[in-house]
Amino acid sequence: MPKPSFFIDIDGVLYGGSAPVAKGPGVLNYLRKRDFGFLLVTNTSRMSQSQIRDKLTDLGYQIGLDEIFPVSLAAVEYLSSRFGHARCFLIGDPSLEMLLTDSGHSVVRHETPVDAVVMGQCMWPDFGEIDIARRLVNDGAEPIALHRDPTWPDGSVTRIGLGPIVAALESVISQPVTLIGKPQRAFFDAALGRTGFERSQTVMIGDSLSSDIAGAIGAGLKSLLVRTGNSISDPIPPGCDGELPSIADLPQWCDLNFDA
Ligand SMILES: [Mg+2]
Repeated sequence: MPKPSFFIDIDGVLYGGSAPVAKGPGVLNYLRKRDFGFLLVTNTSRMSQSQIRDKLTDLGYQIGLDEIFPVSLAAVEYLSSRFGHARCFLIGDPSLEMLLTDSGHSVVRHETPVDAVVMGQCMWPDFGEIDIARRLVNDGAEPIALHRDPTWPDGSVTRIGLGPIVAALESVISQPVTLIGKPQRAFFDAALGRTGFERSQTVMIGDSLSSDIAGAIGAGLKSLLVRTGNSISDPIPPGCDGELPSIADLPQWCDLNFDA
């Protein structure tokens, strides 16, 4: 394999909860020094690009805005291409509401005709929101979810993700929900388009079998599973190219497989 480029997941790979993965920050510097291309790709919908950069900076990572591609940005671009200015009923955190409105879309939290029902990760969604969303979808709004990750690692606690919320709405509507983030091929295609990385020479490094690894395989990318987040002990699935105990082991993997 020629020298690869990397897509790197953030949550469960670079940090877990509020702590960086041990020796993680040095890895990005190593990749820059050795001239391996990389892009951070994340299903995190609760932070904007700049909030993610600020959090990573606080944790010791050196990172530029254009080195981060969050699903929230992909969602904004999808809404713009689909509706221009989109009127959205949002089930999601205030951070996503701010990002949508800053990007020229409008957000309501009450029952009124809209173009789209948008679902992002939030800590405490309620069935009243699902109730409203069902009627809005039946009246023609497009149901859109930023992802359907079943869980996310919050430090030592595993919390339920957006998946159960998407499943709740799906159970009471008759049409499929449009998905934006990993494991959707369109998300990886957008990331390849931004970077110019070669599909067959790009390695997705992630902690989630369902979004990172399955998504990479479906999109024709290589993949490496790290054991610091969602999938600590699951077997490596067919089609995955290997595992690393942690992102901190990536430099050694590169040194072993590719000449300096
Ligand atoms: Mg993750």
